[in-house]
Amino acid sequence: MPHASPTAVTVRIDLAKLRANAVEIAHRTGVSVYAVVKADAYGLGARRVAEAVGPVVAGFCVFSLKEAVDAELWARTGKPAIALGPPETLEPSPWLEQRVQPCVSTVEQAAALREARPIICVDTGMQRFACPPERLDDVIRAGGCEEAITHASRLEQVERLRELLRGRKLKMHASATALLDDPAARLDAVRPGLAIYRGAVRVSTPLVEVRESRGPAGYSGFTLPRHGVILCGYSNGLRPGVCSIKGQRRRLVEVGMQSAFVEASAEDRIGDEIVLLGDAVSEADVAGEWRCGPHEALMCLSGAGAREYLDTMAP
Ligand SMILES: *Cc1c(COP(=O)(O)O)cnc(C)c1O
Repeated sequence: MPHASPTAVTVRIDLAKLRANAVEIAHRTGVSVYAVVKADAYGLGARRVAEAVGPVVAGFCVFSLKEAVDAELWARTGKPAIALGPPETLEPSPWLEQRVQPCVSTVEQAAALREARPIICVDTGMQRFACPPERLDDVIRAGGCEEAITHASRLEQVERLRELLRGRKLKMHASATALLDDPAARLDAVRPGLAIYRGAVRVSTPLVEVRESRGPAGYSGFTLPRHGVILCGYSNGLRPGVCSIKGQRRRLVEVGMQSAFVEASAEDRIGDEIVLLGDAVSEADVAGEWRCGPHEALMCLSGAGAREYLDTMAP
């Protein structure tokens, strides 16, 4: 029978750390926390993530109703959710059954989904899935909206939301991870994704070969005194950059389809664990090396291997 190879890539998710992150955000911000579990919780498994943080958050954010259904968010956690993307159906009943509030940006969506307590998504600069300022009155009236959100990456956008809705008594939220530290961005709730996952994921794989390099090696002809090999490549989402071994940073010098070359020292041995994310390597470190954002780095590496869940604070 085939079984998990000891040389494979492991994606270990610490559920207690996720919960601790959510609790810390709630304390720091003093407002309701909606944990963003879209895209299968950034590739970490929405069901397990939602069960872990459910008890300490006000609810969840997904992109679509389908994501909430697939993860059985309501059934598993008893917490409501908000779908941030454009509504995929204008029929209110599935939204009500699943306790998911749709975000709406047009009069047609708002009117059709009125029963499902739609949230108006206000355009403060993102210019997608959002209602332009001149249509706010019509959409709010059509949907009987009592809540408003905006997709904001800068504080000016939060100020704009506040200004546009001044005097209307709508519940408002705008802040994702990037604006969590800014009290002015908090409004009535926050919607962190990355900040829940940071530091909770460890992606690792063992060295399968270690040797003295004899002249130029690999496809690129890199030269190093010693190098190691891991069974993780760009088909796993990996790119050249940084990794760590026993807490020490090393270079991932060349990445192939299903394997990669790692800079090695005289102490490194076959079987030693190479950490691609976690320990001395943060999402931000990987993102810096890859010239992408930390979300993209996390998404790539969360899909690199077999998921394993642990709860470091379990009795
Ligand atoms: C993805 C998303 C978030 C969460 O973003 P993070 O940067 O991961 O915290 C919040 N709000 C909206 C509208 C989003 O699409």
